[in-house]
Amino acid sequence: MSTLFIGVDVGGTNIKIGCFDGDLKLLEKVSVTTDVDMGPEVVVQRMGEAVRQLLKDLGYSLKDVRAAGIGTPGPADYKAGIIINSTNMPTFKNTPIRQMLSDELGCPVAFDNDANVACYGEFTVGAGKDVNDIVFFTLGTGIGCGIVSHGKLVQGATGNAAEVGHVIVQPGGEPCNCGQRGCVEAIASASHTARRAAEAVKAGETSSLSILPEITCKDVFEHMAQGDALATRIIDETARALGLVCVNMLHATDPARIVFAGGMIAAGDVLLQAIRRHFEAQIWTLRKETVEIVFASLGEDAGIFGAAALGRDA
Ligand SMILES: [Zn+2]
Repeated sequence: MSTLFIGVDVGGTNIKIGCFDGDLKLLEKVSVTTDVDMGPEVVVQRMGEAVRQLLKDLGYSLKDVRAAGIGTPGPADYKAGIIINSTNMPTFKNTPIRQMLSDELGCPVAFDNDANVACYGEFTVGAGKDVNDIVFFTLGTGIGCGIVSHGKLVQGATGNAAEVGHVIVQPGGEPCNCGQRGCVEAIASASHTARRAAEAVKAGETSSLSILPEITCKDVFEHMAQGDALATRIIDETARALGLVCVNMLHATDPARIVFAGGMIAAGDVLLQAIRRHFEAQIWTLRKETVEIVFASLGEDAGIFGAAALGRDA
């Protein structure tokens, strides 16, 4: 019998599954379509089939698996292990996902939201592996967040801590999907960065972006690189909001490192430097040197690493 760990990362379209050895070395990974419409029973069964096949290909079986972890889009009741009502997975209503997967795999299962799980992956083997306290942001459609303090994910009273995407950085500002105004997500996520550019173009501002039928966040970065003034301003506003939230998080939890992940970091150094510039312009000087702001290192695998690590450490 070996000591293996399974990490499951559930996204809106794909489920990623990784098999890890006792030192959390990734042995093999696989991706299957989520097919949310089929309902939770079928989806969990598919996860089980994929895990069994993965193990078989590696010369193992379920008997070799010590524990598993799963991350899903929130919100959920993480203590009870139940997905109550996920917007990305509408057929998963009051679904006891932790117990279902545990029954399917015959081992203990840890459960948390996708951002926390990715955060824990970066903390355990990625950009935060040599420190004890990190704040993690993933910049995509929204802004996901996780906080590790003293080596543990911060859960809060109801298990829904670290929703830092909804920290307000511009009172009365842009409306957010959550119902508040001026959330950092509503300004600085990849989608909202693109939206702000599109709205400015529509309002008649001169920009090389105006020839595009649809504007993505990547376009805004590309046009900034070519010297477009509007694109430069939009990215600067995004970086300013992210720099502000870094200041706020430094004062709140005193992380050794703040880690950015997600599609937007493909923009590279220009984004990281802009966030650092705004952070340094706004932080209390005494605290300037106490935190590093870096990019994540695990890419799309952060979720499976983190889920497996949560399973191991639970
Ligand atoms: Zn919000």
